[in-house]
Amino acid sequence: MKVRTRFAPSPTGPLHMGNARTALFNFLFARKEGGVFVVRIEDTDKERSSKAWEQDLFSNLQWLGLEWDEGPMGGGSGEKGKYGPYRQSERTEIYKGYLEKLLKEKKAYWCFCQPEELEAQHQDQASRGEAPHYTGKCRALTKEQKERNLKEGKPAVVRFILEPKKITFKDLIRGEITFDTSLSGDIVIAKDLQTPLYNFTVVVDDHIMQITHVIRGEDHIANTPKQMLLQEALGFPSKLQYAHIPLVLAEDRTKLSKRHGDNSTTRFKKEGYLPEAVINFLVLLGWNPGDEREIFSLQQLQKEFSLERVHKGGAVFNLKRLDWINGFYLRQKDKKALALLAIPFLKEAGLLEENGNDKQKKFFLRIQKSQPYTIKKTGEGIGLEFLAEVVALYQERLRKLSEFPELADFFFKKDLEYPKELLRWKDITEEELLSSLTKSEELLSFVEEGHWNKKTLEQILLKQAEAMKDRGTLLWPLRVALTGKKASAGPFEVAAVLGKEKTLQRVKQAKAKLQ
Ligand code: GLU
Repeated sequence: MKVRTRFAPSPTGPLHMGNARTALFNFLFARKEGGVFVVRIEDTDKERSSKAWEQDLFSNLQWLGLEWDEGPMGGGSGEKGKYGPYRQSERTEIYKGYLEKLLKEKKAYWCFCQPEELEAQHQDQASRGEAPHYTGKCRALTKEQKERNLKEGKPAVVRFILEPKKITFKDLIRGEITFDTSLSGDIVIAKDLQTPLYNFTVVVDDHIMQITHVIRGEDHIANTPKQMLLQEALGFPSKLQYAHIPLVLAEDRTKLSKRHGDNSTTRFKKEGYLPEAVINFLVLLGWNPGDEREIFSLQQLQKEFSLERVHKGGAVFNLKRLDWINGFYLRQKDKKALALLAIPFLKEAGLLEENGNDKQKKFFLRIQKSQPYTIKKTGEGIGLEFLAEVVALYQERLRKLSEFPELADFFFKKDLEYPKELLRWKDITEEELLSSLTKSEELLSFVEEGHWNKKTLEQILLKQAEAMKDRGTLLWPLRVALTGKKASAGPFEVAAVLGKEKTLQRVKQAKAKLQ
């Protein structure tokens, strides 16, 4: 039988990282087994579901490269797959048929108990040390009573009779799990015939959509026995296999939630984490390869992933690890590719503008030499080459792209603002400082444009610096003059990328601050 997995999010909020991991595990397991990955939108909660959140889901799945075989198409109209519609809100009639079947077969019944009454009951049970559950009161209503109530339009819900028994299933990650359903009362499966609820719709859909493996968060374990009893009641063969994946925990080892800050996938995308890094990070939240390796591509994971290697214990969401993984992928990039990735962040920071429309831009990039970008503050046109040189300076230390504008902003400014004290190396006097900058200026002005590169600059400046009793005396003021920063890339690299004219101009500006 062909493996069919499903990712069944509710579009009631952004796709958070925990859910993205559930999607990933379903995707990987399907791919590994040569199966089918289905995306089903569980939007039965009409008030809380929205198209905007649905769009957020789809665009993030696409960004991560988790292509689905069946489901709504990219969120727009239309869908792929023969078991649709893949949005629960479009399947009301299907559910209605099954609800009516259960009611007719007396496996479910109308319940007219009101919230206040139920609340009082629950409190009473709690005071006796019992777990709150429904007593089954409306099960005993006569046919006449029930019909009268319905005719009078009394608010009612549909309850499913949860036969008290022990249910055991074999979880692919946790092994055998047994539940005693006598502890929970009959469950509500629909608010009315048009408004079925999660435990019910999920059972109907997993059956109709021929799902073979339910891979979902551990928080759904307690739903499984209910869903299994519903399958039985509906006459669906019980061939579903379950795998409950471990909770994602915050560093404080409690379940990761909004309380710990924004955990949406969009946030990580916006901060400049690469999709391949996010995938790599997410898979390690619960899965391990059984050896020391930490770096995995999506492609590789499709071959290596297995549920046997998913552990039971909670998986801690460690941002430092994500930074480390992201840094690794950033370093793998060719510097032009990295520059292209950094451009949106420079634009966002108000440092760069793109000229022309997309078509022109592609043309500019193809002919390489042109200047498809403008430095906003100076109006200067620049090419990708220049940006590539700038990002290359930070490639080794960058953890995420959003850090880049702040690190490199001095390349995109006309005048640098910094306190003149920053220029001072240790306790050198103002005169020594001035003469250090003058020395740099002198040496640099002799370098011909054609030889203006890191190597030459390093040779010349280092030679001079080593001749002084402390090389910082020459190199620190120069670096600050060029960058305006306490910490930055080194003076040779920066000068090489800035070019002769700007370098000399900045040294002059620094000197002017002292005079
Ligand atoms: N809609 C459910 C959720 O978002 C899916 C649960 C399941 O996979 O069965 O939590």
